[in-house]
Parts: sequence; C-alpha cells; structure tokens
Amino acid sequence: MENKKIILTGDRPTGHLHLGHFVGSIKRRIELQNKGGYDEFYVMLADAQALTDNFGNVQKVKDNVLQVMLDYLAVGLDPNKITFLIQSEVSELTEFTFYYMNLVTLSRLERNPTIKEELKQKTQFNESIPMGFLTYPVSQTADITAFNATIIPVGDDQLPMIEQAREIVRSFNNLYGETLVEPKAILPENENCFRLIGTDGKAKMSKSLNNCIYLSDEPDEIKQKVFSMYTDPDHIHLEDPGKVEGNTVFTYLDVFSSPEDFEKYLPEYKNLDELKAHYIRGGLGDMKIKKFLNNILQDLLAPIRERRKEFEKNPDAVFEILKKGTQKARKVAYKNLIKLKTNMGINYFN
Ligand code: ATP
Ligand code: MG
Repeated sequence: MENKKIILTGDRPTGHLHLGHFVGSIKRRIELQNKGGYDEFYVMLADAQALTDNFGNVQKVKDNVLQVMLDYLAVGLDPNKITFLIQSEVSELTEFTFYYMNLVTLSRLERNPTIKEELKQKTQFNESIPMGFLTYPVSQTADITAFNATIIPVGDDQLPMIEQAREIVRSFNNLYGETLVEPKAILPENENCFRLIGTDGKAKMSKSLNNCIYLSDEPDEIKQKVFSMYTDPDHIHLEDPGKVEGNTVFTYLDVFSSPEDFEKYLPEYKNLDELKAHYIRGGLGDMKIKKFLNNILQDLLAPIRERRKEFEKNPDAVFEILKKGTQKARKVAYKNLIKLKTNMGINYFN
C-alpha cells in the first residue's frame, strides 16, 4: 500500500489555547510545517468530540472553533501549507466510527488509562458515563484513518488513543484485507513539555484547573500570573539556599529560556545551570527569577497576540479558510469511506 506522509492533529475547541498546548503540540506542528516534505497536513477542530463532554453546551464549543482557529493563525500555522477542518462538517467521520465500534469491546474502552483519568475529573457525568464520551477514542480512529494519516503529533496523554487506533486498523485489515494504514504518534522532544505544569505548580496546565497562561493573554495578565507562581516555600530570605526541583519558575525556565535570553536579560549568568547554582547556594531572590521569566514569556507571546488581533478583525476570512479546508477534507474522507465500505462488501448499487 502507498505509504504517504500524511500528518493529522487537532484540538477540542473548548477554550483558548495555552502554553501547555504551545509546548506540548503547537511548537511541533510549526516545525513540521516549516520542514515540509509531507504530502498532506490536516489540523482538525474536533468540535464533535468536544461535545462528548459538553453536550448541553453547543454554543461554547462553536464559539471556541473561532477562538482556537485564531490561535492557530496567530502562532503561524499557515493555511497554504495546512488543511484546517471542522470535524462535525465531515459527516463521513461518524460513519467510519459506527463501523469501527464493532471492532472494540466495552472492557477495552474502559481500560483506556487516559479515559479513566479524565472520568475522575468529569463530575458532571455522576458516574453514569455517556457512550459518546467512552467511545471518543474510536471516533479519533475515524478522524485519523478517514484521511489515511500516518503521523500524529500528540502529547503523551494521547498515546493510548493512538494505540487504540492501531488496534482497530489491524483488526479491520485482518477481516477485510489491507485497507487502512497504521498511524504513528510523535511526541515532543523535551520531557518537560509532555505535561507543562500549571502556574499553580500542582497539576498540569489545564483550562479546567484555572492555572493557565493563554496565548492570547494581555501583558499584565502574564505578569500577574508569573509573579504569583510558587517557588521554593523554604526560600524566604534572599540569602537562603533554594531548591530548583519542584520550583515552578525553574520548571518554566527549563522549558522556555534560551542562551539568548541570558544575553539579553541576565548577562551576568552564562546559562540556566549557572542561575540554578546561584539559587541553590543562596543569595538569589525570587523577584529576579520571576522578572526574568516574565521577560521571556512577554517576548514569546507579544508577536502571537499582535497577529491574533489582526486576524480577529476579520472573522469571515477566518471562516472562509475553514470552509475551504473542510470541503477539501470531506472529499478525501468520502473517497476513503467508499473504499472502506467496498472492501467490507457493503456496496449495493454499484
Ligand atoms: P481541559 O481542562 O478541558 O481538559 P486542557 O487545557 O487540558 O483542557 P485539552 O484539550 O485536554 O486541554 O488538551 C489537548 C491536548 O493538548 C492534550 O491532549 C495534550 O496533548 C496537549 N496539552 C494540553 N495541556 C497540556 C500541558 N499542560 N502540557 C503539555 N501538553 C498539553
Ligand atoms: Mg485535558
């Protein structure tokens, strides 16, 4: 079977994108886009999937389709290189899902570690789990295979979903012959990016935990969030020795600081190791490291915010990009659905 390089990734439009998304997935997408060499690159706004735990809240999801799309354009994802699509507008995807559901057992779905973890947080379900939510990994398999995607850039929480997809692909091919391609996940390079910690330092950055720095945050919001981060609770006086492990500011510096930032803002240190050594031995205040982190994040986010504001002026143009991409994607999904059904033998009229 032809082995094209087809990339697919996406987000649930449930809120603006934050720094966790940026380091966990967006940066990788930008690299892939700029490197080129792929046959297709799809980025999906997974609104139907977002409805699996927001079913009474269509308006929120709908509003965030635009917001996330604005974030995409703001970070520099390029509609000339990427096909952007809205999941619910590609009806074929639900048909794929319907057939795939026969290849997965209930107990297999219940064993999915990410689903288990997410269910703990979904108090709205009252321990009565909607089928739609439990089967969203199956619908992700549909999203992937409908476009013959082979490369799926994800965070580590998504690995069980890709594993599930690979199982479904193998089961289908065993039954009906080589039809689908097994996708491969690719993870961020820096392990700190797998789960960027939230500004509270307690859990990963997550919309629902209210511990996010958003890509669209204004300068004063960013500053306020950085300055309220926990450092080392035992580092009270300037001269006290401090800990860098579990210190949120240093965790962020690990992810975001570069030698150029030191040259620009802290030339008295060569690099992060030197700064850490000073903190550990004592004599370095929290204010100084917070100011440094704030400068770095302001530099990172200012151009993104400015570009976002430009795109915000013309939402019609943004929807036009989505419409074009969705139409193109739908043709591909349709073609692949016919192939799937033909291989299954459900083609009555031709
Ligand atoms: P919610 O609170 O609704 O779960 P969220 O802020 O956790 O929202 P998701 O929509 O769950 O965002 O995240 C989508 C994907 O983005 C995740 O599957 C993961 O790959 C990546 N991601 C999200 N948060 C982080 C993070 N803090 N660090 C690294 N990657 C992240
Ligand atoms: Mg989440």
